[in-house]
Amino acid sequence: MRTGQEYLDSLNDGRTVILDGEVVENVAEHPAFAGIRTTVAELFDIAADPANGMQYRAPEIDASANLVFSVPRSPEDLAARRRAVERWAKHTHGWVGRSPDHVGTFFAGFASHPEVFAGEEGDDRDYAGNVRRFYERILRENLYVTYAIIPPQVSRATTASGWEGEFLQVGVVRETEEGLVVRGSQMLATGGPVTDEVFVTCIKPLGPDDRDFAISFAMPASTPGMKMYCRRPYHSTATSDFDYPLTSRYDEHDVLMVFDDVLVPWDRVFINRNPQALGRQFFETGAHALGNWQAQTRLTVKLKFIAAVARKVAQVNGTDKFPGVQEKLGELAAVVSTVESALLAAQVTAEPDANGVYIPGRRALYGIMGLQSETYPRVIQILRDLVGGGVTQLPSSVKDLYGEASAADVARYYQSPGFPSEERIKLFKLAWDIIGSEFAGRHQQYEMFYAGAPFVVKGAYAYRNFGYDELLGEIDEFLAGYGSRASIDASADRREI
Ligand SMILES: Cc1cc2nc3c(=O)[nH]c(=O)nc-3n(C[C@H](O)[C@H](O)[C@H](O)COP(=O)(O)OP(=O)(O)OC[C@H]3O[C@@H](n4cnc5c(N)ncnc54)[C@H](O)[C@@H]3O)c2cc1C
Repeated sequence: MRTGQEYLDSLNDGRTVILDGEVVENVAEHPAFAGIRTTVAELFDIAADPANGMQYRAPEIDASANLVFSVPRSPEDLAARRRAVERWAKHTHGWVGRSPDHVGTFFAGFASHPEVFAGEEGDDRDYAGNVRRFYERILRENLYVTYAIIPPQVSRATTASGWEGEFLQVGVVRETEEGLVVRGSQMLATGGPVTDEVFVTCIKPLGPDDRDFAISFAMPASTPGMKMYCRRPYHSTATSDFDYPLTSRYDEHDVLMVFDDVLVPWDRVFINRNPQALGRQFFETGAHALGNWQAQTRLTVKLKFIAAVARKVAQVNGTDKFPGVQEKLGELAAVVSTVESALLAAQVTAEPDANGVYIPGRRALYGIMGLQSETYPRVIQILRDLVGGGVTQLPSSVKDLYGEASAADVARYYQSPGFPSEERIKLFKLAWDIIGSEFAGRHQQYEMFYAGAPFVVKGAYAYRNFGYDELLGEIDEFLAGYGSRASIDASADRREI
């Protein structure tokens, strides 16, 4: 199985990543990507070591593969898949959202539902075969795929066909014998600069006038004409591991993808100008539920990590003996346990779909996702409350611990009972990277939006998957059990009694 070093060696392939107005010469060496590429390499090493229990025999390729990419065909498969995802998430403490298991999971859903990728009537190309072969490559090569599946935020008042200016959203400019030529942009491929491939499609509903934008394909990160416009890397501002323990390791850059008339060969096209198929690929294959269950597994690991930091802060500051603080830690525990419980409930309520794939229970999964835009900020708020000014009463950098002018004061004034100053400073610097650094702010935005804006997650996913129809039946039956006339008679009887 692919090792971390093999992954790192593959990154210098001429991909076009743009930072500060210039093309990055080599992402394998550029310091802005050092933290995340090292972390991803570590993930591959973990998977490659049989001792970590992340390998299985994949029937699709009849060879050993990474469990995080598996198609669950039994409750045991689903449990094994979660454990493997958790193994990776524990390595990053949940701070890498688009690790290779995220989009890889979507392809497990896609490939096990080839019928969804049949072309429109009259289009006999083997799109389903393309999806299957791409998934087999993910299994065989342990591929790191990210995705850009949201139209650029040009205007939300209409879809792309209503925008002024052609091909702002990525769409088909022309068709050739070799494939589709695409132009435009799509947001927001997290991790793009250090991935192998980018999957591009549109999860937002499109109308009949948007046919040219209704596509789905994957291309290698090094494709000529495919550009990645990177947001400001926070890693570059992380002066040291000690000062920014999370930023320095886990800054996965978010990029706007731009396509300058890129030829997408036919064998890489999954959906060809078919608005109906866009939603079906996510929702009729179970890919959306499986992929977001992976995301909740990661989130649970991250929330436990944050809760533990909060607990330790209270211990160091000696506030944990106050009932008020115990109540706050209790609320934190309640929130985190609720997320974990929903994750496990989704596993327990999983059912096989028509193709025999075990899909996590959608009520529990989308229910907890519907609350995420409130639960994550609440968890951060509790930690923010507990640290007080301690995250600003911090030396300017690790160098203050050693400077001739500062070392003695730092050792004396930054300590807590039982916690020497270095330990205390380390903890509070970590807390700041969770609640206050630019990396922390981006994470709050990520957790609130990665699965869609809250109005979509609540209004579409949680609302539609709750099972209101079934409950309405129960209410209707209850209401039918009494009527107005009978009610008057009954109350008259009661008065007589
Ligand atoms: C850090 C980060 C990483 C991301 N990584 C990825 C990634 O790897 N791949 C990827 O494809 N995407 C990624 N995304 C994009 C993410 O999927 C989108 O942010 C999300 O789908 C919401 O779309 P939007 O940002 O365009 O928000 P919009 O749809 O523009 O919504 C923004 C706000 O406008 C209001 N609004 C807009 N439309 C309506 C409406 N119809 N009704 C009511 N209110 C409305 C709401 O207040 C909403 O919260 C990432 C986002 C973030 C923040």
